[in-house]
Amino acid sequence: MVKSDQYDVIVMGIGSMGLSAAYYLSRAGLKVLGLERFSICNDQASHSGETRLIRRSYFEHPDYVPLLDVAYRNWQSLERISHERLFYKTGLYYLGDRNNPVISGVRESAGLYDIHVEEKQYIGLNPGVAKDSFYEPEAGYLDVQASFEVLKELTLNQGADLQENEEVLGWEQKEDGFEVVTDKGAYHANKIVITVGAWVNRLVDIEIDLVTTRQVLAWFGCNDDQFDIPCWCLDHPEGKGIYYGFSRSESGFKIGHHFTGEVVDPNQMDRQVSNEEVQELQSVLLDMFPDKDFRLKKTATCIYTNSPDEHFILDFVPDTQERVVVATGFSGHGYKFVPAVGEIISDMITKATTSHPIDFLSLKRFD
Ligand SMILES: Cc1cc2nc3c(=O)[nH]c(=O)nc-3n(C[C@H](O)[C@H](O)[C@H](O)COP(=O)(O)OP(=O)(O)OC[C@H]3O[C@@H](n4cnc5c(N)ncnc54)[C@H](O)[C@@H]3O)c2cc1C
Repeated sequence: MVKSDQYDVIVMGIGSMGLSAAYYLSRAGLKVLGLERFSICNDQASHSGETRLIRRSYFEHPDYVPLLDVAYRNWQSLERISHERLFYKTGLYYLGDRNNPVISGVRESAGLYDIHVEEKQYIGLNPGVAKDSFYEPEAGYLDVQASFEVLKELTLNQGADLQENEEVLGWEQKEDGFEVVTDKGAYHANKIVITVGAWVNRLVDIEIDLVTTRQVLAWFGCNDDQFDIPCWCLDHPEGKGIYYGFSRSESGFKIGHHFTGEVVDPNQMDRQVSNEEVQELQSVLLDMFPDKDFRLKKTATCIYTNSPDEHFILDFVPDTQERVVVATGFSGHGYKFVPAVGEIISDMITKATTSHPIDFLSLKRFD
């Protein structure tokens, strides 16, 4: 079937950032089409695994903190509008040695932006695992499935068209805007947003070396039914990188390893999780809580799209007269920013600028 429709803006890739962009763009009154090659909320891309950490004291770069204020405000507003719970404020422990990047970065951004963190022991934790620990009471986790459901419903109610199972094959600048070709037809729009995550290189050449990696998650049950913990983030004492975990959910205790995993083609990634990978994650939990027993419940795989400096890319595509926005390279820490990124993309499309501080996310930093 050939379709030919005119839109104000087409959003390519209705994953984490694309759905949020479609929501804020349609809220601004634009005629929006969103195109997603899989289903909206799928297990093939970068948002699988049920939950995502959200925290304010940012060791990755203190410039994210003002954007986190926007994100926290917008998550709250989405909860208010939808009457659904998206954010679970469990608190979060940062664990490690005070000279390691996690702990020193937390202290730096907490001091710089007056974020409340407490130097506090994690009760029940094996003291050999971490010399120092800081607790951020305002941190916690987001429910990914619920967030997608809420944003999708609100976006559709605002009149946007969201097409699932439709793959964008390419796009071309024409005299009067853009033509977007999919495996089902063609559409026209005045402006374009590219939020295809790990597949960005297939749709636009931004001349940045983005590396897509396979990451693994696992959920464990515990022999102690009463046992629960706040979320945590551990700078591993043997230099193995950062491990992180969540409070108990229906699926169990979720744990992941934040590091650059095996470099993969996102279309051909191995979705099986090996026994060795499970044992590595299980051993971290057993080291942390040696008096407990943890048994595997389930596993998942997910993709990181890493930029060279592991900071996001959020900018206009060069030579498109500020009519094409690209948002990618979220490098394993983007989800908490979803409603901030959506609002900023909407600013960029409707006003060709934004008042939010995103210079540090520009393409020109790689020149
Ligand atoms: C294991 C793991 C743990 C993480 N933990 C955290 C965390 O605790 N906290 C946090 O803040 N962040 C976390 N992240 C990072 C966060 O989930 C990602 O940064 C975020 O999901 C990236 O969003 P995105 O929109 O760029 O990509 P995606 O959500 O993957 O969206 C891209 C979408 O584009 C679609 N698409 C691709 N090509 C096409 C095409 N040609 N046509 C149409 N559609 C297309 C894809 O199907 C996909 O749905 C984690 C990520 C992983 C993998």
